[in-house]
Amino acid sequence: MAKRGMLIVLSGPSGVGKGTVRKALFNEPDVDFKYSISMTTRSPREGEVNGKDYFFVSKEEFEDHIKNGEMLEYAKYVDNYYGTPLNYVNKTLDEGHDVFLEIEVNGAMQVRANCPEAVFVFLTPPDLVVLKNRLIGRGTDDMDVIDKRIKTAVSEIKMMRNYDYAVLNDKVENAVDRIKTIVNSERLKVNRV
Ligand code: 5GP
Repeated sequence: MAKRGMLIVLSGPSGVGKGTVRKALFNEPDVDFKYSISMTTRSPREGEVNGKDYFFVSKEEFEDHIKNGEMLEYAKYVDNYYGTPLNYVNKTLDEGHDVFLEIEVNGAMQVRANCPEAVFVFLTPPDLVVLKNRLIGRGTDDMDVIDKRIKTAVSEIKMMRNYDYAVLNDKVENAVDRIKTIVNSERLKVNRV
């Protein structure tokens, strides 16, 4: 039997660029992960293809999959369901392939509860670094603005604690390189052999 593959979970706050980084990662010639196509109840956007970008289903269908225990995780995001079909992930990992999920934070926490052996990567916006520098630095910003940024940053940092790695998305190609480095070192871990 093949050695079970690695489950890699890319998550992070909304708007951080998870989708862009994931697409760039899959364009790399030396990247050989299997992408788990998510299921969603949102309508396809122009150019999106059913079974390639997402499995587009009705709310009723999605809820049936939940009831039948067929989702590894799912979450409601902006009034729509998004989730990872369990069967594909299990089958593909069992075949020895590495599986990549790109999901929002609530779903990532469910995967963490169910598959603690997965590798959890949190994509962080460069704003956090900007903010940190501002706080340490001169404090020329309006207090209101600083307050808002701090609040957002604090909740993001709190989320980050639940992940194995934080990857700064300052530039897509840098983020891609960092993720590749993480996955390569995870492969070298003694307890994964
Ligand atoms: P979009 O509608 O822009 O394609 O995706 C909205 C959000 O849903 C993004 O943050 C994306 O990462 C997240 N997402 C996509 N697929 C899944 C999934 O299977 N599970 C969860 N929990 N989130 C997902």
